[in-house]
Amino acid sequence: MIFDPIRKLYQDELLAQFDWLDHGFGTRTAGPWLGEDQHAALHQIHSDIVVKAEGNRGRLGAGDALITDVAGLMVGVRTADCVPILLADPLRHAVAAVHAGWRGTVARIAARAVEAMACEFGTRPSDLVAAIGPAIGPCCYEVGPDVANKFAGLVPELADCRGPAHLDLPEINRMILASTGVPEAQIHAARLCTRCRAEDFYSFRREGERAGRMLTAIGVRS
Ligand SMILES: [Zn+2]
Repeated sequence: MIFDPIRKLYQDELLAQFDWLDHGFGTRTAGPWLGEDQHAALHQIHSDIVVKAEGNRGRLGAGDALITDVAGLMVGVRTADCVPILLADPLRHAVAAVHAGWRGTVARIAARAVEAMACEFGTRPSDLVAAIGPAIGPCCYEVGPDVANKFAGLVPELADCRGPAHLDLPEINRMILASTGVPEAQIHAARLCTRCRAEDFYSFRREGERAGRMLTAIGVRS
């Protein structure tokens, strides 16, 4: 990750090299760096629902991933510990923004977004570049067996988990993306823990209901 000191955003090194797109992973100092009328967003519901953004700004409905190939339209997700993921298809100039909390991860929302891009834009997973942004890390994300057991299909060791477990949501999402055919070398993970780094990020685990949300967005330049 590289830090943009002007906008106070983190950027992925590979995505930053594409001059056809703009993107940023929010921080607590970046604030809402795009207004509601400057990007498309969703009412996030921890689902596996992917919505295609076709030009309108504002909230487009309920779901947890937005895909678009419309030039000049930014699509964004909001997080505070959940995993923000950005996808870019450099051949077809199409992008996605994904919100993956634990429920969305179990529902494989990142894979649903890859599939939707394939369906809508003809994206081949082997062309995709994926960037997994700052999120709560395994250092800080302890869950009970009730949650851990839901990951049995993704992480077999968690099937028989009887006590608390430390989940690595960014890593599980990396595995999910790789399973769709995105080459491992094209999947970057920030490895920045939102709970550890209080000066940089909001964290629901650290701050509870009063935690703000960070905007992560991507779009094809017009
Ligand atoms: Zn941590």
